[in-house]
Amino acid sequence: MKLIGLIGGMSWESSVEYYRIINEEVKSRLGGLHSAKCLMYSVDFAEIERCQSGGNWQRAGDILAAAAVSLEKAGADFIVICTNTMHKVVDAIQEKITIPILHIADATAVQIKKSGISTVGLLGTKYTMEQDFYKSRLEANGINVIVPNYHEREMVNNIIFNELCLGKVLDSSRTDYKKVINSLTENGASGMILGCTEIGLLIKQEDTKVPLFDTASIHAIAAVNKALEL
Ligand code: GLU
Repeated sequence: MKLIGLIGGMSWESSVEYYRIINEEVKSRLGGLHSAKCLMYSVDFAEIERCQSGGNWQRAGDILAAAAVSLEKAGADFIVICTNTMHKVVDAIQEKITIPILHIADATAVQIKKSGISTVGLLGTKYTMEQDFYKSRLEANGINVIVPNYHEREMVNNIIFNELCLGKVLDSSRTDYKKVINSLTENGASGMILGCTEIGLLIKQEDTKVPLFDTASIHAIAAVNKALEL
């Protein structure tokens, strides 16, 4: 089994999910007392969020690259960045290490392609929904991506930072998200990417008819596939 190097803390509410899913997956595949070999370097999210909102992506990239270097030195075989948004600086991180990074959008694209769905809605932070670094990676895999309108994007983003990253899971926000999912579906999406690693805490498959692609879960399972060389 390979040693998984996780960069977490963005937010820790979703890093807990990665740790749980990775261990549950290893247990279900190997049985008995088996558990995942992994390391987690968990950053201070307040510092990262300040960089994001201030547009200081270089500093954010430096912080995450330093975490990745520590994980490589500690023996990690590959890196998993436990957030969609911070894949914006994936190249700056990769530059500083020799081990590979398992990209969250690539892992998600594999699952979407397997499902046969060609047009998906994307929910995530405003950075993920509005900038190119994430959508272009999916589009390069032949997937059409549609995003909510401006007001919906603001609402989706605010719920992530003001609630989900603080551990608040509210029924009223679930209702708001379901409305956005419905309007994306009406606009042609046949699947929905939960493109922020906390959204799976709020929206589950039973909340909607459209197939969900929960990036935290997909990424965590892809990490186990890689660790077990499947
Ligand atoms: N975990 C979130 C994501 O997947 C948001 C936190 C962040 O900005 O990194 O994008």
